[in-house]
Amino acid sequence: MSYAGLIEVTGRVNDFLNAGSVLSWDARTMMPKAGAGSRSKQLATLAVAARNLLCSDEMKRELDGAEAEVSGTASDSPEARIVAQVREAIDYHERIPTELLRRKTELGAAAHEVWAEAREKADFSLFAPALTTMVDINREMAQAIGFEEHPYDALMYRFEPGTTTAGLKTLFARLREGMIPLVRAIADAEKPHSDFLFRDYPVDAQMQFALKMAKRIGYDTDRGRLDTTVHPFEVSFTRNDVRITTRVATDYMPMSLFGALHEAGHAMYEQGVDPAYTRTPLATDLISLYAVGGVSFGAHESQSRLWENHVGRSRAFWANHMGDIKAAYPGILDDVTDEEFYRAVNRSEPSFIRVEADELTYDFHIMLRAELEAKMVDGSLEVADLPEAWNAAMKEYLGVDVPDDAQGVLQDVHWSSGQIGTFCNYTIGNIMAAQLFDTATSENPGIQTALDGADYAPLRNWLTDKVAQHGRRYTRDELLENATGRALDPEPYIAHLTRKFTDIYALS
Ligand code: ZN
Repeated sequence: MSYAGLIEVTGRVNDFLNAGSVLSWDARTMMPKAGAGSRSKQLATLAVAARNLLCSDEMKRELDGAEAEVSGTASDSPEARIVAQVREAIDYHERIPTELLRRKTELGAAAHEVWAEAREKADFSLFAPALTTMVDINREMAQAIGFEEHPYDALMYRFEPGTTTAGLKTLFARLREGMIPLVRAIADAEKPHSDFLFRDYPVDAQMQFALKMAKRIGYDTDRGRLDTTVHPFEVSFTRNDVRITTRVATDYMPMSLFGALHEAGHAMYEQGVDPAYTRTPLATDLISLYAVGGVSFGAHESQSRLWENHVGRSRAFWANHMGDIKAAYPGILDDVTDEEFYRAVNRSEPSFIRVEADELTYDFHIMLRAELEAKMVDGSLEVADLPEAWNAAMKEYLGVDVPDDAQGVLQDVHWSSGQIGTFCNYTIGNIMAAQLFDTATSENPGIQTALDGADYAPLRNWLTDKVAQHGRRYTRDELLENATGRALDPEPYIAHLTRKFTDIYALS
């Protein structure tokens, strides 16, 4: 019946979620394949336990007491925010009927196999019935959760609270206006050489170099570790145990390096959360039920993209570290200059596959998905017409003809598991990354000077101060306004891409 009691019970919710994260990390790095069946049941049990404890009578009693106790404190105090967030999370989860959740989980398990077969045969019609049911379930979810304007808003709420379909429409239109001319100009321009990125790079050397560079930018390995996986991810079990993964291809080295820098960016966010918030709702996402300190999926992505693209793919970075990478791969890069390397890792080319897309073309893959999802959810696009709509958008945005459904509409796993509404966070992350980097370097010229001299501490400290330390105390937009003086603004991102690619491709 008190704030202290609320912290105790929410701490146990955090424990359930962190235990799930450990099992999930293990499943994606160490577990033998045969463990998958039992592991998915174990994870589901922990997720249900966390949800049930969150919505329990015990929690509600403590919440009532806590609300009375903190009623006099400032509305943005950590205590007031914790109480408000627990109330909001209970309300959110109680609106979704457990029977609907069960149907979604069951269909997700079955639909995954159907999707895998359809993708193998490059035949969307095999997956269409399952996707139709999945879209219907998501529409029911949207109705249950509630929304003001568009049912898709309700689905995005779980990942990127405050984002609306109408807001995305304006944002995407501006991005397209700024970026399509660049994509078109580059299609006709001469590409930088990049053949040396595809030489034979030993696996062990790649892992050592990836870890070395992650540490170099500030990832704390006393509170983390790097492992290999198929789809790289970062996961935190508290700010004192934040792990990253990367993937290694012997014939394409940038994957391991930039994967590690990206995940290190995510990890530094979690490692930088105020220690006082450990095990509290300010380091626990009670809506999406992940034990993370990041305030939204997009905010999280902003930190990974910032370190990967604005630092790791910068000219200064390679002017400083070309010697390091040559030493890591003796004899392999002797004929390559730092400028050639910088240009090669920024090569841009329209492609069909999202996960292989470069910095300039990536957002088109996201816009396309978010727009099609919104139309399926509001019923203006029939699932049967999805491949045609997909291929038309790829042609319009990137100028490419999709050869088949496997390289088009069937490429992502998300829809098979029923995840609709997650894609926008990647583009929001890119926009936030540029906005934060622009403010950091323009208001503090010393930060850029330090980067030019391979000193990453001033930028890291600024990001910890403005973003990471706050955990989930502020909303994404409050965080952005406090840090940069304004809400989400695509202009610094468009300016960054224009500057960088105009220079690399010698466009006029
Ligand atoms: Zn990421």
